[in-house]
Amino acid sequence: MEAGHVVSSRGGSIALRGHAVTFTGDPFYAPSNEVFLDIPDALVLIEDGIITRFGPWNELHHLVPDHVDVEHYPGHVLSAGFVDTHVHYVQTGIIAAFGSQLIDWLNDYTFVEEQRFNDAAYSAEMARLFFDELLRNGTTTALSFCAVYPESVDAFFDESMRRNTRMIAGKVLMDRNAPEALLDTVQIGYDQSLELLERWHGTGRNHYAITPRFAPTSTPGQLEAAGALWKLHPDAWVHTHVSESLAELAWVKSLFPERSSYLDVYDHYGLLGRRAVLAHGVHLSGPERHICHQRECSIAHCPSSNNFLGSGLFHVQQAKDPSEPIHVGLGTDIGAGTSFSMLTTMGEAYKVAALNSSPMNSIKSLFLATLGGARALDLDDRIGSIAVGKEADIVVLDPNATPLLRHRSARCVSIEEQLFVLSVMGDDRVVRATYVAGERAYDRTLGMGSREVRPTGAL
Ligand SMILES: [Zn+2]
Repeated sequence: MEAGHVVSSRGGSIALRGHAVTFTGDPFYAPSNEVFLDIPDALVLIEDGIITRFGPWNELHHLVPDHVDVEHYPGHVLSAGFVDTHVHYVQTGIIAAFGSQLIDWLNDYTFVEEQRFNDAAYSAEMARLFFDELLRNGTTTALSFCAVYPESVDAFFDESMRRNTRMIAGKVLMDRNAPEALLDTVQIGYDQSLELLERWHGTGRNHYAITPRFAPTSTPGQLEAAGALWKLHPDAWVHTHVSESLAELAWVKSLFPERSSYLDVYDHYGLLGRRAVLAHGVHLSGPERHICHQRECSIAHCPSSNNFLGSGLFHVQQAKDPSEPIHVGLGTDIGAGTSFSMLTTMGEAYKVAALNSSPMNSIKSLFLATLGGARALDLDDRIGSIAVGKEADIVVLDPNATPLLRHRSARCVSIEEQLFVLSVMGDDRVVRATYVAGERAYDRTLGMGSREVRPTGAL
């Protein structure tokens, strides 16, 4: 068994019952009735953190062992837990910082806040808050930036170990164009990344991402070292930003005049491949998208962040062009993003697609937020859908969470319409419960880690 595949040492069985929605394939490339599973009364049986049975309740309920509790959610929607393919846990504290575009926003807010993560206690406090917010929003896997300091990475993974979550993260590499206190060097950045990778990659459900912030804050030497580290550990991830704003594009061009494009900078230093996840890609050219396709790298589409910073409109249909498909997931990009909620992020993605004159239906946006995100992270063999053999990371959504939602949901005539309503009107209030590896990690009424105290059958 591959390192890191052990899900839960806590053991035990649990059965969930409710209206289940999930995917067996990509609705961008197949009719939704072929790849979208909609089971109005479903059973999900879980043993030791893994889904062992899934299907219609009336066909399978006799398979539930007598000693197993059935947690029944009538009127609720069960989905695979959400996958946030790009977020900065160290920017949790500066969400909703007013008034500037990318470069100024980095200097005025981000680089100030990230200096606080030199402190292990502060890092631990923010990691706790961050994981609480993820789970309150039904997000069970995230690919996150940490700060430049190893303490910030240890705090993130320590918290993930406590929650038993499947996470990917890494130390930011920056050796130029940022405040002195946030800079490492080629050697220090390499050594610290290697040490953290060896400590955390495959520990529990965690994975390491080699994380140069973006081309402007790394020297060619640092990008080269990052590429060399990936070559040494090709099963690790690479996580960075690309082509977010026009001012950034011009800056990269001036810093790397010898490269043919922004993406070519990363390609040149060996930083593109199946497990490279590039945030934004708003302004990628046709030839750059071609390289993304060829190298099999992934784009994290972060609509609320792009809207907040006025960066531009990512064209999801273009990226998903069937002749040259690119893996695409959704990202909140906290703290430039404005919500931890992947439902809200789905709603923002819809608006961006509408501004591109190609509105995206809710089946596609839910795919991006679940199995599509898992594929973008190359984790779809383990997470991203409700299926036998997958890890039981599951969110329970309440379509009646507010008076207006209750009124609007009553008018829905299809699951597609219901999911669309949830994506436009929903947020953390809609999340009834979040299960991590078959354990209830969050309950809206009872809070975090509430499995032990919650009376069964009292829904
Ligand atoms: Zn970002």
